[in-house]
Amino acid sequence: MNSIDEKLQPILAEVVRRNAGEPEFHQAVHEVLESLGRVVAKHPHYLDHALIERICEPERQIIFRIPWVDDKGQVQINRGFRVQFNSALGPYKGGMRFHPSVNVGIIKFLGFEQTFKNALTGMPIGGGKGGSDFDPKGRSDAEIMRFCQSLMTELHRHLGEQTDVPAGDIGVGGREIGYMFGQYKRLNNRFEAGVFTGKALAYGGSRARTEATGYGNTYFVQAMLETKGTSFDGKKVVVSGSGNVAIYTIEKVQSYGGKIIACSDSSGYVVDENEIDLDLLKDIKNVRRERISEYARRRGQGAHFIAADKGSIWDVPCDVAMPSATQNELSGKDAATLIRNGVIAVGEGANMPSTPEAIKAFQDAGVMFAPGKAANAGGVATSALEMQQNASRDSWTFDQTEARLATIMRGIHDSCYQTAEEYGAPGNYVLGANVAGFVRVAEAMRMLGVI
Ligand code: NDP
Repeated sequence: MNSIDEKLQPILAEVVRRNAGEPEFHQAVHEVLESLGRVVAKHPHYLDHALIERICEPERQIIFRIPWVDDKGQVQINRGFRVQFNSALGPYKGGMRFHPSVNVGIIKFLGFEQTFKNALTGMPIGGGKGGSDFDPKGRSDAEIMRFCQSLMTELHRHLGEQTDVPAGDIGVGGREIGYMFGQYKRLNNRFEAGVFTGKALAYGGSRARTEATGYGNTYFVQAMLETKGTSFDGKKVVVSGSGNVAIYTIEKVQSYGGKIIACSDSSGYVVDENEIDLDLLKDIKNVRRERISEYARRRGQGAHFIAADKGSIWDVPCDVAMPSATQNELSGKDAATLIRNGVIAVGEGANMPSTPEAIKAFQDAGVMFAPGKAANAGGVATSALEMQQNASRDSWTFDQTEARLATIMRGIHDSCYQTAEEYGAPGNYVLGANVAGFVRVAEAMRMLGVI
């Protein structure tokens, strides 16, 4: 890891002490503090009134029991979380994740990242995140519904369109949002469309929300490539994952002339030298909900599957890498392989998918690197557009919404780029994103007094 300014070191030490056993949260705070040395050197007033310490402490953390009955009549118990991290810029805003790896440290890291990401969008939204250690794999539709209803029976009292607005994340798509919103509506006896985003169009969703994170990451990387006079056209691209973010990244990159040659899920990855067939991938993942090995089986010649324990998707030579599955999925060793194979740009679709060692390796090698908190902000930005449509009881066309998304992503790119220049680190998007996001949140907090 890079070093942290000595004035900021005690802040990290205190975060580590008070949040023992939460390595992902420590990692996320470390990365931001690393960037803030240049800020406090220029503007020492940010060290006053424990402002940075307060930004590192969530405003509220809710942990609760989720009892539910499975299809065999057995009672199951999961744990639910909602970390309401920062509301200086607007209501808490961030997705819900259902995955067995979820714990309070993971949700805290995601909520912390979300705070800066949301600030970068320029929209009036604070930062939050939630989820459960529930594993949706293999569960029936009825089980998913009972689980979502039980979760919301507890969580509803902490939400509200002016208070806290959840959305989807890993394991939470349109179906789960429908069940949670339905239960919220029932318990509150109020149709409060703006309390959830990622809703289906039928009851207040926004066009382009499903596509927004993947499309947004593609716009960001395209803008980054343009700064070096190049583009996606004709480039070989590897996208990890095959969920919401990955699929719409593939769609947009292909429309820009990029050639996607590999994607994955947690069981392994597929390589298709003829280019990934997106219709086939969507059928396997979104319709049949099958494993990625099915892709190679159905595609036939030119495509093959490699199991997760037999290799890494980052062994596949490419010009652009777009990690879009989960945190810490791209290690320092993977980065070294990508660099050796000639990668020129990396755009993080997932949250914190690259380890600190990987980020350092990319930066040292001069690889253009777009951090998730900037590059994947298109999802939450479009969620904020969904809230706007709900507030005005309006519904925009796909083209209108996508045009707003494209403008927002260009704005985020330019703000990161210019901030990096202003703070003496040209081309360092990690620093640009951390500093631009931090300054927006910190300025609002300063004006609101000691909160
Ligand atoms: P999905 O659940 O739709 O897809 C996740 C994909 O990643 C699946 O292919 C899944 O494989 C794979 N994956 C998940 N966990 C692991 C793991 N531990 N190891 C290997 N592969 C894994 O989630 P999303 O596409 O919505 O989210 C992907 C990432 O993007 C997350 O980091 C999320 O926080 C981030 N993100 C999402 C946004 C959104 O709008 N959805 C917005 C901003 C960021 P399998 O099915 O086998 O588990």
